[in-house]
Amino acid sequence: MKPIFFVTKPLPDIGIDRLRRVGEVRIGKAQGSLSEKEIVAGAADCLGMMVTPAEQITKRVLDQLPQLKAISTYSVGFNHIDVSECTRRGIGVGNTPDVLTAATAELAITLILSVARRVIEGDRMVREGRWRGWEPVDFLGVPVVGKTLGIVGAGRIGGRVARMAAGGFDMPILYSARTAKPDLERDCNARRAELEDILKQADFVSIHAPLTDETHHMIGETQLQMMQPTAILVNTSRGPLIDEPALIKALKDGTIAGCGLDVYEKEPDLAPGLADLPNVVLLPHIGSATMETRSKMAIMAAENLLAAADGKKPPHCVNPEIYP
Ligand code: NAP
Repeated sequence: MKPIFFVTKPLPDIGIDRLRRVGEVRIGKAQGSLSEKEIVAGAADCLGMMVTPAEQITKRVLDQLPQLKAISTYSVGFNHIDVSECTRRGIGVGNTPDVLTAATAELAITLILSVARRVIEGDRMVREGRWRGWEPVDFLGVPVVGKTLGIVGAGRIGGRVARMAAGGFDMPILYSARTAKPDLERDCNARRAELEDILKQADFVSIHAPLTDETHHMIGETQLQMMQPTAILVNTSRGPLIDEPALIKALKDGTIAGCGLDVYEKEPDLAPGLADLPNVVLLPHIGSATMETRSKMAIMAAENLLAAADGKKPPHCVNPEIYP
């Protein structure tokens, strides 16, 4: 009998076609997050499930899917999956690192430039017909070239942002990570620092650490108070790394100058007041959203799912310890 795979949302065909060569594929709805009930109904009788960061794969979901052998997430982040519970049950979990690194790093740089140079405010003024012509003191932003960039979580994406910023914008780099990054230090003259020192010294702070129990709300009121009033904060990692109400307060009272966000605490909802602020740029979680990147992610996610469903270690595995 052919295995059945549940894919929670429509993905590029190139990935779905690979699954169809092996088994039957059920695809969830195109828009909006699936509820627990919809995930469980969709994945009933399935050997494997491909998910996105929009679905929460909790112990309760897993309890209702005892036949499941494989979970593949169409993302590098896997905070939406209870991995330790999967490991306990022998469910292989795969993710999609590397192929989205450049796209997400580009988006972090885009946010830095957009906030610094007030791109969205300017665009809005032109579109709304409020522009009256060149003015000597309108839309004064802050320069990016030569300013200090703090990278919180200098892994694949953070490291790439550092290289783009140092190479393209002559930005001195401060970084934090659990382990030292000698290549980054050698190639970009980057300096490892405590979070507190990064926040105090950087003109721009870009967040790239994964969402874990340890990093949840790692940027809250205390940390925002450490930043310079001219500083700009950018987050393309996961929303809950920042305490959103504290961020809104800091943006309102001038504790920091601006921020650019691709991710939010309670996606797709925004904390009250965030969208009313002029000094923020808000994107709809599009870090990896290029056709090239998403196609590569679809292939990788399909290969991970097929391997784990076949009892083999996925090529990109989050819980390799379950395999001999
Ligand atoms: P990665 O290579 O694992 O990098 C994460 C970095 O964070 C590592 O350098 C790690 O240190 C560091 N880190 C872990 N805990 C930390 C802590 N408590 N304090 C400071 N640094 C810490 O992951 P990645 O591929 O760069 O992806 C990073 C995150 O980006 C993902 O988890 C995902 O949530 C997010 N993401 C978002 C989008 C989007 O669409 N916006 C797209 C892709 C990814 P070590 O190197 O020492 O382990």
